[in-house]
Amino acid sequence: MKRVGVIGGGQLAWMMADAAEKFGVKLVVQTPSENDPAVSIAQEIVFAAVDDASATKTLANKCDVITFENEFVNLDALSDLAHQGVCFRPRLEALAPLLDKYHQRCYLRDLGLPVPQFFAIEQLKNIKSKVEYLGFPVVLKSRRHGYDGQGTFIIQDFASLEEKLSYETTIQTSNESSFLLEEFIPFDRELAVIAARSVEGKIVTYPVVETQQEQQVCRRVIAPAEITPNQLAEIQAIAHTLLNSLEVVGIFGIELFLTANGKVLVNEIAPRTHNSGHFSLDACETSQFEQHLRAVCGLPLGNSDLQCAAAVMVNLLGYENSHSDYQSQRQQIAKIPQANIHWYGKTESRPGRKLGHVTVLLDNQNRDLAIALAQSIESIWYPR
Ligand code: ADP
Repeated sequence: MKRVGVIGGGQLAWMMADAAEKFGVKLVVQTPSENDPAVSIAQEIVFAAVDDASATKTLANKCDVITFENEFVNLDALSDLAHQGVCFRPRLEALAPLLDKYHQRCYLRDLGLPVPQFFAIEQLKNIKSKVEYLGFPVVLKSRRHGYDGQGTFIIQDFASLEEKLSYETTIQTSNESSFLLEEFIPFDRELAVIAARSVEGKIVTYPVVETQQEQQVCRRVIAPAEITPNQLAEIQAIAHTLLNSLEVVGIFGIELFLTANGKVLVNEIAPRTHNSGHFSLDACETSQFEQHLRAVCGLPLGNSDLQCAAAVMVNLLGYENSHSDYQSQRQQIAKIPQANIHWYGKTESRPGRKLGHVTVLLDNQNRDLAIALAQSIESIWYPR
């Protein structure tokens, strides 16, 4: 497989460039705007929205296999292409149970994997007893198209739930059944693991990491996470069960909660490369982007071990509306020993937008030190 089509042209596609060059793979990207990060690295571009399946047909004519950096596609329309012989990796049947968060929770539960208690909202008036059973706070989530915490709301009481649902259903032209409700997990930490599955069914997992979110958006990642050998084994088993059951080819990101009494629960599955695996670009022999390309192209999977004792990754999130490229902050951060900046080349900054990230390689596994380093990067990046 030498020509890979990528649906979505954001930073996740952009970060596949080095691996594509290494393997002599041609990347053809389907993305709506000429300002999207991957436009600068793609050999060919189909300018169209990611859910435009007729554009994906054009994309298919230009490549041997199609993969995703954005999963908000129109699966029904893509299935017609798959029936005509277009090769999607991961396969569309593996995406089907994941794109709706309620279906995803049901799929994980039916596999016997641990998940928070949850239910779909059919009609608000019918859920009072169920909500009382979960107890406040509860978490309200849009079933579809949520990312970076958009569409995830922590709700403290029934009046706020009613208010939020009526507001969201008005602005989104959706209705109550577009949401699910779940138990709020008072987690001790959030964890994540990246796992890849090859065409032959071999699975490779990356070190389990700790992720830290603020306002539901990932701010920093510490690799490896401080967990027990049993928790590590449990998380690796979750990854194997999931990827084997879905029979996927490619990289998956799995987000987890670790509770105060040491219980692991699955929060969310991303059927693609994931923010929690960005550290692998600098800290592992095979980055998640190279691994994904290897899997999708039918190549053997590479070594996913850390090449250093530890690493910390900090997202550089937009905090204002601007066209600045933040040269001086970037230069200051670059002076930190063992720091590697990845700047996505977005022409517009908006609050919360992922503009780049920094990974610092560390020579010991000291969580406090990693957090302190992340804080010093953030104090350079964010204005006081
Ligand atoms: P998104 O798809 O937008 O990333 P997530 O479902 O992953 O949304 O939620 C984003 C963040 O919100 C999580 O990383 C976590 O910090 C918080 N969160 C989500 N679900 C729960 C929950 N059930 N209990 C506690 N916190 C949660």
